[in-house]
Amino acid sequence: MPSPSVVTVHLILGSTVSMVVPARVVESGEDGLLLWVAPGTPLWRATIPPGTHLRDLPPEGSYPLRADRWRHGGALILQPAGAGHAVWWSFTMEQEFRSWYVNLESRVHSPDGADVHVTDQELDITVTPDRAWEWKDEDSFAAKTGHPVYWTPAEAAAIRTEGIRVTHLIDSATYPFDGTWCDFRPPESWPLPELPPLGTPEAEPGEGA
Ligand SMILES: [Mg+2]
Repeated sequence: MPSPSVVTVHLILGSTVSMVVPARVVESGEDGLLLWVAPGTPLWRATIPPGTHLRDLPPEGSYPLRADRWRHGGALILQPAGAGHAVWWSFTMEQEFRSWYVNLESRVHSPDGADVHVTDQELDITVTPDRAWEWKDEDSFAAKTGHPVYWTPAEAAAIRTEGIRVTHLIDSATYPFDGTWCDFRPPESWPLPELPPLGTPEAEPGEGA
């Protein structure tokens, strides 16, 4: 696969695109991708009523994308090749490491490598800097299990198993939870990516997890 310097990440929950965000490639190889989302990055975000979250809204609703920006500190995103999860390092606006986040997901890369479609599997794991971890959104994960736009009970069991596999890495302080990248500072020469055009072709299945 070619290696672009910016990859557009399409985050999808059920049948809805929740966010389209361009991320700079920090590392790319057979092990997977490491991406950087800088504070202020222009992005597309699903329009939902104030104070709500997409996970709590009906999947058949219409949530058109609107231009917005990344309104938090930056994030590093590790997408290990072939794995059913990503690991996010969250940083403060002052670029201090804040926490890890394990997002259970499946991914499909576009043939040119410029886009990755990430289907969220709702269940997540939050991890503090001292590696105390907790499942997140278990109730919503259970409520969605068996719904046709989400996952079957068998798939839910596999998603949970993938999460448990990652908790063993956390508990043993094994990469990527060994402190690697916690001191990450993006080079000042990196400009913010541009707002990606919408209407990119759907990724073709067959690659990624
Ligand atoms: Mg998630």
